Amino acid sequence: MAEFCLDCWNRMNHAHWTERDYVLSDERDLCERCGEFRRVVEGEQTFKFLYDLRHRKKK
Ligand SMILES: [Zn+2]
Repeated sequence: MAEFCLDCWNRMNHAHWTERDYVLSDERDLCERCGEFRRVVEGEQTFKFLYDLRHRKKK
């Protein structure tokens, strides 16, 4: 699967998704569009409530 950072992913789809909408890789990876090492989109954030829980714990 091609790998894109969230910024490129948004540009390609004319969208304004955030980390809350998409799961990003923990490690930096080469974005195939801008050619920079960034966290790339791994898939749709299926359980947004889990994201919320995880990020609430960090605070
Ligand atoms: Zn990119």
